[in-house]
Amino acid sequence: MTTENDTREPGSDFIRDIVQEDLAQGRHKTVVTRFPPEPNGFLHIGHAKSICLNFGIAQEFGGRCHLRMDDTNPTKEEQLYIDAIQKDVQWLGFDWGTHFHHASDYFEQLYGWAEGLIKAGKAYVDDQSPDEMRATRGTLTEPGKNSPFRDRTVDENLDLFRRMRAGEFPNGARVLRTKIDMSSGNINMRDPVLYRILHSTHPRTGDTWKIYPSYDYAHGQSDAIEGITHSICTLEFADHRPLYEWFLANLPVPAQPRQYEFARLNINGMILSKRVLTQLVRDKHVSAWDDPRMPTIAGLRRRGVPPEALRDFVKRIGVAKANSIVGADILEFSIREVLNKNSPRRMAVLRPLKVVIENYPEGQTEEMDAVNHPDDAAAGTRKVRFGRELWIEHDDFMENPPKKFFRLSPGTEVRLRYAYFLSCKSVVKNDKGEVVELRCTYDPQTKGGNTPPDGRKVKATLHWVSAADALKAEVRLYEPLFMSEAPDAGNFAADLNPKSLEVITDARLEPALAGDQTAVQFERLGYFCPDTDSKPGALVFNRTVGLRDTFAKEVKGGGKK
Ligand code: ATP
Ligand code: MG
Repeated sequence: MTTENDTREPGSDFIRDIVQEDLAQGRHKTVVTRFPPEPNGFLHIGHAKSICLNFGIAQEFGGRCHLRMDDTNPTKEEQLYIDAIQKDVQWLGFDWGTHFHHASDYFEQLYGWAEGLIKAGKAYVDDQSPDEMRATRGTLTEPGKNSPFRDRTVDENLDLFRRMRAGEFPNGARVLRTKIDMSSGNINMRDPVLYRILHSTHPRTGDTWKIYPSYDYAHGQSDAIEGITHSICTLEFADHRPLYEWFLANLPVPAQPRQYEFARLNINGMILSKRVLTQLVRDKHVSAWDDPRMPTIAGLRRRGVPPEALRDFVKRIGVAKANSIVGADILEFSIREVLNKNSPRRMAVLRPLKVVIENYPEGQTEEMDAVNHPDDAAAGTRKVRFGRELWIEHDDFMENPPKKFFRLSPGTEVRLRYAYFLSCKSVVKNDKGEVVELRCTYDPQTKGGNTPPDGRKVKATLHWVSAADALKAEVRLYEPLFMSEAPDAGNFAADLNPKSLEVITDARLEPALAGDQTAVQFERLGYFCPDTDSKPGALVFNRTVGLRDTFAKEVKGGGKK
């Protein structure tokens, strides 16, 4: 992993340097940041980076961070998303206190300031169609052309703007534009739009407004109203900064926030764009916004990713000024770090193969001591029942093994974890010639899995579940949603991985898993958590992540096996 952060003190980055300096120089008494999502979809892991940065800075420097809904486009925004955003930010471990705000809280104030701009000759109502406006905007190398409506009188502009507000005109008939400079080298400064007509019901203001402020106009002024000191956003807004500053200089705003840009998070194999995520849900390529294959915070939560892991990941990748793509293996590393520490160990068999131990007395059972966590003695032990009939993993047996296969095959001996040495004597097959049962023997002198007096060694230790009291469960295994490492947001449907979800309906679990509502490690298989579909008697588990770093290899190979 190489990031700009490698050469720095832990927890420090260029934005924190600026905040520290501003506080040291007395430019601000306290730091105030904000996280400003538009409630038009669920948050994704890219937003988690912004949340951790904004709320993290406020925490570290004793300031505060606002959660602000940037709700200026009622055609795409819904209460459902507002609720989901609040839940996700809280789950990540952050608290906005009393500072839950909406850009729509400021609609009246923003409207008043817009009238002020008209009166100062700095804004005008433009009757050009959206196409005409596009055609006269110019290009990166050519200046734009002034609108024929640019020189309307203040009175005419005020009259039209008030009638826009009153709902007299249809969508798209007119806009209010700033009068800045149609020949500016920065296209954002070529008379940008302040208000557009939208006859659409807003989730909060209902049908009060027929006109809505543009992002650029609403955003910076909301920052100023709330007394934001450091307005942190992603790099694509760097070209908007002159406009951000123009508004602050030309309006009677109560504060002068400053905008800083950092590189957005990109992760290989993932698409972090609300537009694409919305399409995945709408076109049913995934089950919902919280499908465990989604890079949404809700999806990661359902998959079993702990919030500490996301915070650790964000810290690890750092905050840079240049865009880059982060390896998904870094995310997996953070997830494993946390899960390894906190997950009790359990035994589960995903693809069960029956073992019958011929020399173990019928009807007899024993309670074996199983360790809950190998690195944490305080986690204690639990009893697992052993008996004559067991389930082992089908993959742990081969009838005709290649040279390097050290697990079970006819004539070989392995250790059953926490139990006994086991030898396979013969196999039972069905009509199709498939192995459906193993006839085995055990060595009573190896209780607890210990080496027998003759010092015999085995090369493999297998997990198992007692057939008499195993629980049946559904287990869902996940692979990347897209096949390529750099999926194309413009043509993502062609890149969907048909093997991204594997549902195993016949897994067998040790009985302790009936009550586990937390993340667990299934020994040798990975980290798992109960899915929200799981019910007593109908258990469903998700694999959060495997035990080792296989992600990168799987993606390169175009999906596993
Ligand atoms: P879309 O993905 O559709 O472009 P958006 O990312 O602009 O939507 P917003 O709700 O406007 O969504 O984002 C809220 C905040 O999160 C913004 O400040 C934005 O800069 C930040 N953000 C969005 N995506 C990322 C990302 N990938 N990495 C870091 N920050 C991000
Ligand atoms: Mg946005």
